[in-house]
Amino acid sequence: MGRELIIAIDGPSGAGKSTLSKALAENLGYLQINTGAMYRCVALAAARNNIDLDDGAALGSLAASLSIRFERDGGDERVLLDGEDVSEAIRTPENSLRTSRVSAHLAVRQAMLEQQRRLGREGGVVLEGRDIGTVVFPEAQVKFFLDATAAERGRRRWLELKEKGLEVDLQQTITEVETRDAADSAREHAPLSRAEDAVTIDATALGVDEVLALMLITVQQRRNGSRGLSGGEK
Ligand code: C5P
Repeated sequence: MGRELIIAIDGPSGAGKSTLSKALAENLGYLQINTGAMYRCVALAAARNNIDLDDGAALGSLAASLSIRFERDGGDERVLLDGEDVSEAIRTPENSLRTSRVSAHLAVRQAMLEQQRRLGREGGVVLEGRDIGTVVFPEAQVKFFLDATAAERGRRRWLELKEKGLEVDLQQTITEVETRDAADSAREHAPLSRAEDAVTIDATALGVDEVLALMLITVQQRRNGSRGLSGGEK
């Protein structure tokens, strides 16, 4: 078998990155690394330790001191922060907005970058986030930019939260998704952006299986040494 690939999936909130990176990793027998969950852990720890969300230096030291691990519990990914299962606690709407502020600090990004590169450097990984194809692994052999309209992304987030028993307003969830994307795209360090060599997939009207099939075609083409879905690349 040839060398295992590094696969990057970037895109805005609610486009389906987690679902697709899980499906792709399972299909290929790869490790899935959810970098958003790592930033979410830093935000949760910051709130618990009463750290000012504008204090980049303090947040950077905090980020460097945390132990963040992923475990599989059947089909579910569990996120362990210093040994505690925080999978649910990191996904509340408050922590989502907090994460966007925390992740804008350079010191926080540097601490996370080191961990992400260590976790992914051997290949055989699917990493999802905002800056994987541009900053964390610009050399990744396969890059996807997964997108969908804000209304559809908000609706998916809303369904996800509802399934977890959180009573949230649809319009408010759409607004929160838009606010977070605007902040993630406008920040100075490693903003959400599409790598030039990424294959863009608009998942607004596509189901998981359809997006997965498109991704697998590209992976197969890269393994065979060709450039992949040329229509998706600009
Ligand atoms: O992907 P998820 O919605 O869980 O990400 C939460 C937040 O973490 C994003 O809104 C963004 O602020 C931050 N993030 C980031 N860089 C990444 C992944 C996530 O800044 N690679």
